[in-house]
Amino acid sequence: MNNRQLFLKHLGQTSEFPLALEIQRAEGLYMYDKDDKAYLDLISGIGVSSIGHRHPKVIEAIKAQIDKHLHVMVYGEFVTAPQVQLAHAITKTLPENLDNVFLVNSGSEATEGALKLAKRHTQRSKIISFENAYHGSTSGALSIAGDEKLKAPFRPLLPDIHQIRFGESNDLSQIDKDTAAVIIETVQGEAGVRYADVDYFESLRAKCTETGALLVMDEIQCGFGRTGKFWAFEHYGIIPDILLCAKGMGGGMPIGAFISSKSIMHDLTHDPILGHITTFGGHPVSAAASLATVQVLQEEKLIETVAVKEQLFLSLLNHSKIKEVRSVGLMMAIEFESFEYLDQIIHKLLEEGILTDWFLFCDNSMRIAPPLTITSEEIKMACNKILQAIDQVN
Ligand code: PMP
Repeated sequence: MNNRQLFLKHLGQTSEFPLALEIQRAEGLYMYDKDDKAYLDLISGIGVSSIGHRHPKVIEAIKAQIDKHLHVMVYGEFVTAPQVQLAHAITKTLPENLDNVFLVNSGSEATEGALKLAKRHTQRSKIISFENAYHGSTSGALSIAGDEKLKAPFRPLLPDIHQIRFGESNDLSQIDKDTAAVIIETVQGEAGVRYADVDYFESLRAKCTETGALLVMDEIQCGFGRTGKFWAFEHYGIIPDILLCAKGMGGGMPIGAFISSKSIMHDLTHDPILGHITTFGGHPVSAAASLATVQVLQEEKLIETVAVKEQLFLSLLNHSKIKEVRSVGLMMAIEFESFEYLDQIIHKLLEEGILTDWFLFCDNSMRIAPPLTITSEEIKMACNKILQAIDQVN
């Protein structure tokens, strides 16, 4: 059996129609299949390879770390340089109240940690999340997802979860003194890149402060420079009580974090002791890769290039078949008339060596989230191919 057949036979599948591209290597903006055909990665492995595949600084940091040690002890017991240096570097990018980082392995785990922390800290149970929100696939994270179709077969999920409309100020009245946390994606990803205005976020912040509910901002997809600021909440001039990150954070390695103040985070250490634990969270190799990623973003001034690149995409993506382009930095959605129409375009682009994607809750929009290292020439080439593909399908 070849690898494709073994993939279909032995690997747990997530749909009945996987892309099943056989990737052999990846470098920078490109991935290469088994015949060495190059694919321009316009989605960064869904927001992961934000500084490109195998960035040399990340590879160097990984190699240096594996020569020292791999895993040595469950998270939280030993002082290991990659973890503390990473936490220090991350907190330097953040306001003072976000000075304490709990490292985990993934976005879903960051969500789980935040939900537990908010309940433990406030001693309340009600959680408010948003329609079309996505925070991960574990049971707790799924409980706060904003799509009933995804949740229904897995019920019962967590109780006391309430969904409100994203960007709708009238719904903020549902945040009350029973609310432990309001969890919101600063820019909604799987909803198809949806954003709200500054006034809305200010009202949300004020309502949380007034009621004592913790404001949790999920920047697992939109953080780490993707929107043109290190953190997307910087666009809105407000500060969350708990911040979530993962995906692009690891430079291609698995890592996530929930971040809060030292005093809030302290509640996970007592009553009960070991209130949240993880064996592999903040794995030394992932932490070293993540620290290198922070340094690359800063030293190469990549985040500063995002707005110009976004504008270039926007100026080129004009076509009568494009209904709308929504974007915050290099997190973009191109909307077409239907899933079926977009399906043809995505497959045409794949033939042309361009990888794009859909969104979980928005199947008529094309996901564009390239590595921030993409050049003007590559943007022009990609947009040309997208426009040509549109012209070639019916
Ligand atoms: N939150 C958001 C906003 C996400 O986009 C994702 C992943 N798509 C997650 C949480 C879950 O992250 P992971 O897949 O690493 O568990």
